[in-house]
Amino acid sequence: MKHEEIEPSTATAVHGFSPGFAALGLEASLLATLDALGYEEPTPIQRESIPPLLAGKDLLGQAATGTGKTASFALPLLQRLAHGPKQRPGALILVPTRELAIQVGEALQRYGKELRTSVLAIYGGAAIGPQLYALKRGVDVVVATPGRALDHLRRNTLQLKHIQMVVLDEADEMLDMGFADDLDAILEQTPETKQTALFSATMPPRIKSIAHRHLKQPVEITIAKEPVKAGSAPKVLQTAYVVSRPYRAAALARVLDMAGPKSALVFCRTRVEVDEVTVMLNSRGHRAEAIHGGMSQPQRDRVMQAFRSGQTELLVATDVAARGLDIPSVSHVINYDLPSSAEVYVHRIGRTGRAGREGAAITIIDPREHRFLRSIEQLTKAKVVVAPVPTVSDLRAKRVERTLSSIREVLTAGDLEHFRTVVTTLAQDFEVIDVAAAAMKLAHQGQGGERDEAEIPAVPVRPQEPPYRPSQRPMGRPDDRYRGAPARPSERPAMGRPVRSGGRAAGMARIYIGAGREAGIRPGDLVGAIANEAKVNSNMIGAIEIESRFSLVDVPEAMAQGIIQTLGRTRIKGQKVPVRIFRD
Ligand code: AMP
Repeated sequence: MKHEEIEPSTATAVHGFSPGFAALGLEASLLATLDALGYEEPTPIQRESIPPLLAGKDLLGQAATGTGKTASFALPLLQRLAHGPKQRPGALILVPTRELAIQVGEALQRYGKELRTSVLAIYGGAAIGPQLYALKRGVDVVVATPGRALDHLRRNTLQLKHIQMVVLDEADEMLDMGFADDLDAILEQTPETKQTALFSATMPPRIKSIAHRHLKQPVEITIAKEPVKAGSAPKVLQTAYVVSRPYRAAALARVLDMAGPKSALVFCRTRVEVDEVTVMLNSRGHRAEAIHGGMSQPQRDRVMQAFRSGQTELLVATDVAARGLDIPSVSHVINYDLPSSAEVYVHRIGRTGRAGREGAAITIIDPREHRFLRSIEQLTKAKVVVAPVPTVSDLRAKRVERTLSSIREVLTAGDLEHFRTVVTTLAQDFEVIDVAAAAMKLAHQGQGGERDEAEIPAVPVRPQEPPYRPSQRPMGRPDDRYRGAPARPSERPAMGRPVRSGGRAAGMARIYIGAGREAGIRPGDLVGAIANEAKVNSNMIGAIEIESRFSLVDVPEAMAQGIIQTLGRTRIKGQKVPVRIFRD
């Protein structure tokens, strides 16, 4: 089956939508969807990936989460499927974890709404029945974790003979989880003529080797890190708060409440998000205004005027809107959403700390986006401090501190004669100290008071320093630190994952799992179970050791109990197994 080439020119002359996206060759229905989502322009990876993928080429892309890579393959995939043969499923996307399968599945559904593309996410840990039913009815796109995809292939419930496009997303993570053999087995069942795209945050030799085996003359894309001229990155205190998605808005509000910035720029990725964040901040007593590409010039002028005069303290903007603006130096730049590249980050934070003034850059990130911190540290040659999100009691203490300093200012300024008379009258009935306390309570409430606040759960990023770098690991031979000599190559530890026979890294606890080689346990099974069931980022899992009848896994101490409880309830390779803390 040969691919029909889609002429990019048929789709370029679309007016009214983002010219940036239209120029890439996307058709009107997708442009309309992007417009509704508030995307103003393509990110660098989208600009580079979409045209070759639309033209049917294979692609090898180096890009991390947060760069917009999902859309960079999803949009061309949807467009090509809509114009290709109708046998289903026409596309297969392989991802390392259940969480990502759901996320990518939702993204495809969102982008493919106008095209009415049906999408199914299949992953381990979920009941297989509904997946069987959906597969039987037929879907256009399957998003799957390798283990579960293989399960379905063995049951003959998933057919890959009509696949026109395969995407391997976060390929390095899939290899780290021990899915190398599974990937080969799955790809073997797809047609020779298919188009393949492989995305990976890192490009170690083992990824190159997979690419070499499965991609045909791929277009290679790296989202290049342009060197920043020495000294051009501003001297700004950079802080990052790691929170899971549902708590991002609360974290932003909390961080702003703590920082109490006089003037801050809050960056979001989309127009829709800019509007939502502005409403949320105003409802919490901040004076915030939105600025984005969907506004008329007089509207923007008015917003900028209010910001310059200090009438509004927070300007919530997209990168595109901020680019054309003459924005005065601000005290804080806040990245509510990660920028699409480290270069855009540097550009964003260049709005603060100008002319020797102090500046602060605050970034709110999802645990999955931790790699981004490394690239901005490299680019800015400065540390990004990962700090815990302030707690409710931190916030209360801060508010009291602010009230106190306001009172101090008033005391220093004097001119209190009139109020002294009032206090003297009250002092006939109450202790002077109680009078002062009541007055302070009033002032405190007036300054924002004691709003009901809920704690935001802490999410650790990476317990171990330095971060592990899969690219530095040797390829194709067993790790010499791995104690149990493997009987079969597939039983080797997942490559890239440090496997120690000696002591544990600081902050790590060792978990005993009562199943090992004899039960067919492989490192990927353990990483998969922990990542998927206990919702622990696979990067945080440390050394793994598989003995004949049991296995040991190092995990962050703080998470050990949670992991033990979850794994105790889960089936590993179809069996319930004892799980407990391992004491050496
Ligand atoms: P990803 O790197 O694919 O996980 O995407 C990160 C986030 O960026 C997602 O929330 C997307 O919805 C958003 N996004 C992707 N492309 C764009 C774009 N061109 N403009 C604005 N937001 C985008």
